[in-house]
Amino acid sequence: MNRALNFNAGPAALPVEVLKEAEQNLLNFSNTGMGIMELSHRSKEYQAVHDQAIALLRKLMAIPDDYEVLFIQGGASLQFSMVPMNLLGRGQAAHYVLSGSWSDKALKEADKIGETVIAASSKDQKYRFIPAYSQDDIPDNAAYLHITSNNTIYGTQWKTFPSNKKTPLVADMSSDILSRSLEVEQFDLIYAGAQKNLGPSGVTVVIIRKELLERSSENLPTMLNYNTFANDNSLYNTPPTLAIYLLSLVLKWADKQGGLQQIENTNEKKAKTLYDIIDESEGFYIGHAHKDSRSRMNVTFNLHSADLSKEFLQQAKEAGFVGLGGHRSIGGCRASIYNAVPEQHVEKLAAFMKAFKNKN
Ligand SMILES: *Cc1c(COP(=O)(O)O)cnc(C)c1O
Repeated sequence: MNRALNFNAGPAALPVEVLKEAEQNLLNFSNTGMGIMELSHRSKEYQAVHDQAIALLRKLMAIPDDYEVLFIQGGASLQFSMVPMNLLGRGQAAHYVLSGSWSDKALKEADKIGETVIAASSKDQKYRFIPAYSQDDIPDNAAYLHITSNNTIYGTQWKTFPSNKKTPLVADMSSDILSRSLEVEQFDLIYAGAQKNLGPSGVTVVIIRKELLERSSENLPTMLNYNTFANDNSLYNTPPTLAIYLLSLVLKWADKQGGLQQIENTNEKKAKTLYDIIDESEGFYIGHAHKDSRSRMNVTFNLHSADLSKEFLQQAKEAGFVGLGGHRSIGGCRASIYNAVPEQHVEKLAAFMKAFKNKN
């Protein structure tokens, strides 16, 4: 079967090996005569899948013992609310760095819960870069600092993170978790919807420093309290078993690639292939992001006229490329090159971009 040249921003490409293994287990998982999503979430077979997903994520990201790994539904968007509901107390303010539409949305949800401060922003510059930010200026009553590590829509990415001595650092890593090696200790809470780098939609991973769990009020609705998930290994109620199973397969695949450093090297190479085409095009392709803020996951660019961008997208579609249109909020073009997008597909896109330039 011919696999599509899939550059979708999310849900996005999954590794072929993962899909093949899943295909078999949809009908008969581990000789039970039942598909993985037909098993009880209390069965020992499902329990093993669940525990393996947590163990593999802990291994791959070297998550220390004083952090919990939680599986929650509701997408990254529910975390926009759960983070302030659990962490933002009275008399405190939550600090947000605005680096794109997702951080803007996160801020708006926090505004409904308590006091917020815009710590830095590149909004008036069309989010072309990660705004400079020093954590030294942060006041003592800050509940936490929230950042979006990769800005999926604008194609920018944090390279180094604010140091985290005084204030808990919270990161929305939905579109670059597992794409590079980093120190989890730099963060106090990491959350990520699975559908970009981790698996299908339906499960959101939350990695939280245990100490922070003490902040949640007992008056929170049960399903919005991190402790509910932490106390029951994310099995208080029925978890999204199929999504967690696919997550476990993606993690197994990532482990087989050689871990995060190896994955990071490949991602760097893939991104360079496309950015080189942009940089060597003498202005034919115009990158949206400033060079020092460029994302290795989402490559955003324009052509010099809207008509030419349209023509590019049309021809790309005819040539079999999927998902290259920019987000509806900024237009232009975007190639999302998450972990599971093969290098060969990126090279094919680079060749197409070069040929299109030569023709026009
Ligand atoms: C996709 C995305 C979201 C939204 O995720 P949902 O799971 O659809 O709620 C939030 N933040 C970032 C950075 C994203 O890329």
